[in-house]
Amino acid sequence: MNLQAILDDIVATLRPELGRSGKVADYIPALARVPADQFGIALRTADGQEVASGDSATPFSIQSVSKLFSLTLGVRALDEKLWERIGREPSGNPFNSLVQLEREQGVPRNPFINAGAIAVADRLLSVGDGLDDLLAFLRSLTGETITVDEEVAASEAATGFRNVALANFMKSFGKIDNDIPAVLDVYFRQCAIRMDCRQLARAAAFLCRDGVHPLQRTEVLGVRQARRINALMLTCGTYDAAGEFAFRIGLPCKSGVGGAIVAVVPDELTVCVWSPALDATGNSVLGMRALELFVARTGMSVF
Ligand code: GLU
Repeated sequence: MNLQAILDDIVATLRPELGRSGKVADYIPALARVPADQFGIALRTADGQEVASGDSATPFSIQSVSKLFSLTLGVRALDEKLWERIGREPSGNPFNSLVQLEREQGVPRNPFINAGAIAVADRLLSVGDGLDDLLAFLRSLTGETITVDEEVAASEAATGFRNVALANFMKSFGKIDNDIPAVLDVYFRQCAIRMDCRQLARAAAFLCRDGVHPLQRTEVLGVRQARRINALMLTCGTYDAAGEFAFRIGLPCKSGVGGAIVAVVPDELTVCVWSPALDATGNSVLGMRALELFVARTGMSVF
């Protein structure tokens, strides 16, 4: 299969659509300034071939895609114990909703909604160095320098009132151990990590390799743990549109409001698409279209 031709064709097909539909996330002021007319795609096969097209080397704010990597660190450090504080069900509610958390006694439905990721950040601070561990992990997975966009982090910290509320709310139920400012600092800064499509496809590659590190023979996660992360991506990885993603794309995916979506084809490859304009559910409009085209052209699906 000529993967380069497939990616180039997807870029050519979608380029005329750039800037036509969707809206760049504007609830974080620093994200509102990102030009909408950008599109990149990159993949890495299980045996290490890397293919890219479009704006695949343009860095962006990875936002909620960071939750994939913080969860991986949490599972690595705590395994089953992580699930004492975090559920594994789709929320059926917006990613920043407070309502469910009240009914469910401060236990977030899953690690990919904001409350769940804040709870994971708390666990990472309890077992290690929080953000430093996450950055070191991403550097190891990519073999490249990965940094935080401090302007985006400051912008989130200045406007993330709902996340502050979620963290305090969980703390009131005794479900957060560390100081709230320290936990939120990890959370806001992990969302503000800058990476490009190429780096994200590479970093996530352990998920298509039964947990084996993309660049080394070492284990990032055990086989069962890696499969479970893929299961969570499929059921909870794309906000309140996970059903639609399973229906239209049929791959485990994790999206972020910066416009990135990482998808996994188990045993085959990982792919990252990025285009900043989002639909009403917070998923990249062209990212989703690109994944549909990719699946149609390659026949790859978990179903
Ligand atoms: N930093 C964003 C927030 O907390 C992350 C949102 C996202 O990508 O889902 O609202």
